[in-house]
Amino acid sequence: MSSSTEAPIDRASCLLSVVIPLLNEQEVLPTLHARLQAATAGLGGPVELLFVDDGSTDNSPVVLQSLAAQDPQVSLIRFSRNFGKEQAMSAGLMAARGQAVVILDADLQHPPEHIPEMVAAWRSGADVVNMKRRGRQGEPWAKRRAAGAFYRVINSLSDTPIPADIGDFRLLSRRAVDALNRLPERNRFMKGLFAWIGFPQVTLEFDVAERAAGTTKWSPRQLTRFALEGITAFSIQPLKFATKVGLLTALFAVALGLFYLIRALLLGDAVPGFPTLIVVILMLGGMQLMAIGLLGEYLGRLWLESKQRPLYIVQDYWPARQFAPPQQDRP
Ligand code: UDP
Ligand code: MG
Repeated sequence: MSSSTEAPIDRASCLLSVVIPLLNEQEVLPTLHARLQAATAGLGGPVELLFVDDGSTDNSPVVLQSLAAQDPQVSLIRFSRNFGKEQAMSAGLMAARGQAVVILDADLQHPPEHIPEMVAAWRSGADVVNMKRRGRQGEPWAKRRAAGAFYRVINSLSDTPIPADIGDFRLLSRRAVDALNRLPERNRFMKGLFAWIGFPQVTLEFDVAERAAGTTKWSPRQLTRFALEGITAFSIQPLKFATKVGLLTALFAVALGLFYLIRALLLGDAVPGFPTLIVVILMLGGMQLMAIGLLGEYLGRLWLESKQRPLYIVQDYWPARQFAPPQQDRP
């Protein structure tokens, strides 16, 4: 299994795979494909363009079929329904055959023109090439602030530092991909997993482009869920926090109870004490609900993991024609 025992590969001429998770991106696909072709043409080795269709409901499957028909570099995976981008990336990493694998968004926010510099960094020894966005201009203020807060929270809680402003645009070496593919968990918080695997990593900067067409596929609700997934996948600190707060609150309640008891014994029951009672009950109730909620988050994930369901269901897989014997059936 150790890659150090494998014959060294020639990084100048081996296969490069580009994995593109996509959902309803019919407008951008032709441009994306043309730009990918142009950007990877001069790399000196064969290229696989692996599109992972995460259950598009628009015309994307048709567009992809026509791209595959005209370009033997194109591989297609189609999910049976929408499973989510993390799953689509996982599927792409499983199927990619390249010695290096680039992941990029379909909407051209990750300009394919950066692929040559990423490949160059890999050729000079990096296993993971992270692409850091230079700014988050063009994103709504609220989303920028939420993203900043998310990275602060997750990094103060998680044992694995997760670099801010590095999205899913990156290059991975074969052994990094193999390492990721061996991780068994269902909760695929890829940003965290990429950081967790280690290996020599370098970070390059790039300017995020505007979305070429279509709209963002993430609603604020999905992003919130995503953030929570990330935090619970990479930290059990919140559970400990709940225990601590619960304990402190309980101790405080006991002390307060004693204080009132002694005061009532010494001075008599001067005030009926109704406000205090309500405050204490509400506070304890709130703390308990919070702790139970947190437990539920983790328990729910445990339950999901324990079901051992597959991450996604592939409806169709057409490897690029460059790999296939000529007689293979294609629609
Ligand atoms: N995407 C996907 N499945 C989803 C949601 C998004 O494959 O359930 C793809 C989408 O087509 C795009 C990439 O993930 O290629 C990033 O999505 P998007 O551009 O909507 O996110 P944003 O850039 O707004 O964060
Ligand atoms: Mg985008």
